[in-house]
Amino acid sequence: MADPRLDGTQIADSVIDLFGGTPLVRMKRTMEVEELPAVLAMKMETTNPGGSSKDRPALEMILAAERSGELQPGGTIVEPTSGNTGVGLAIVAAQRGYECVFVMTDKVAPEKISLLKAYGAEVVVCPVAVAPDDPQSYYSVAERLTQERQAFRPNQYANPNNPLSHYKTTGPEIWEQTAGRITHFVAGAGTCGSITGTAQYLKEQNPDVKIIAADPEGSVFSGGSGRPYLVEGVGEDFFPAAWQPELYDETIAISDADSFHMARKVSETEGILIGGSGGMAVAAAIQVAKRGTPDDLVVVFNPDSGRGYLSRVFDDAWMANFGFTNECEQCVGAVLEARSATLDNLLYVNPDETVRTAIERMRANGVSQLPVCKNTPPFAAAEVSGSVDELELMEVIADDSGVMDVPVEDVMGPHLPTIGVGQKLERALEMLHTAPALLVLSDGRPLSVLTRTDILSYFDARADY
Ligand code: PMP
Repeated sequence: MADPRLDGTQIADSVIDLFGGTPLVRMKRTMEVEELPAVLAMKMETTNPGGSSKDRPALEMILAAERSGELQPGGTIVEPTSGNTGVGLAIVAAQRGYECVFVMTDKVAPEKISLLKAYGAEVVVCPVAVAPDDPQSYYSVAERLTQERQAFRPNQYANPNNPLSHYKTTGPEIWEQTAGRITHFVAGAGTCGSITGTAQYLKEQNPDVKIIAADPEGSVFSGGSGRPYLVEGVGEDFFPAAWQPELYDETIAISDADSFHMARKVSETEGILIGGSGGMAVAAAIQVAKRGTPDDLVVVFNPDSGRGYLSRVFDDAWMANFGFTNECEQCVGAVLEARSATLDNLLYVNPDETVRTAIERMRANGVSQLPVCKNTPPFAAAEVSGSVDELELMEVIADDSGVMDVPVEDVMGPHLPTIGVGQKLERALEMLHTAPALLVLSDGRPLSVLTRTDILSYFDARADY
């Protein structure tokens, strides 16, 4: 019941009434306006009370569950979420008297975990490096907790109220705010709720509006195997219920490097702090706007704020360690370049290859350790599982010669310490005091292994005798 004392005031009855109605703002400074024939505008979902687009589906899913009886007064909500949906659910739960438990992977930025706890929610963190059917995976843990607590599981990946919320609110807002002149809508896809719901509405108004999905390189939406990439909240290793390819006119794959650099550029040049997935969407939208005409109006959907990524995308040390930036001219990359051609490519062993194969590979190449990497096309070796070391393998084999035929993953050791290709040589030297070898990363992916011998040879070749 509306309180008559609020009549005539501009006081919202609760924070929930402030969901949606986010502004559209023109982007004029990320690119020279002359370089972009089309008008580029951003739908700023950061102005939702929870700071992201996910407030919208959170509310719609909870209201639907109340209507169907799946959620009873005082009940519990359990959801695997990378954070933003959690915030939306936690806000609605706080207003309507529910408990929340959120399950997420250790890939998620630590600030996001603290944020959910700040809203009074319980958070369970699970390892990202396990298969979805593993009992430790965040899907399995969420399933178990749902049973144990007889909780309501919104399941944003399958819940039709997720895309419906965008059909009911985001689509109409954009249509109205652009006076029906929108020609292209660009959005990242995770659950696909935002892109599909908005696309449905926009295409109903004008079937000629082009819908463009921005996707991390490696994710299934743009033809990858689903991993690995570092940008959070977008891309998948499966096709969620809301994935409706017939609605998308194009899918553009964007690398982690381009996503992160664009997030930083937009924040610095426009004064709009955005996250990695927003950077990814903007990078795709700029491609679209570049090939557009002056009559085109491209709307890019920015799901959340860069505040959730201060310790990653916006942290210089983090960016350098993953090989996204250069700290110096003569850095780790210079040693690799100078090294003999036979060692330029990453030598590695797959987790399911045998110990015998690993030993043969080390011997053939004269190396004493190998990273254990999953071969995830289109990237030759993209996902690091661990490492094997000649000495350690010898010890295991001495105890049991049968080990020669077991898969490497059964006996491998932890990851080699990592260093970015653009980090200082002094840093590599320091790290090599305690580690036999380092794994060099470039654009977030393994590039090569660096040893003390490599650095010695590099200095030796440069010495002025
Ligand atoms: N960016 C971020 C940061 C997100 O958390 C999400 C939601 N997973 C998305 C983009 C993608 O939105 P959707 O799930 O609606 O496809």
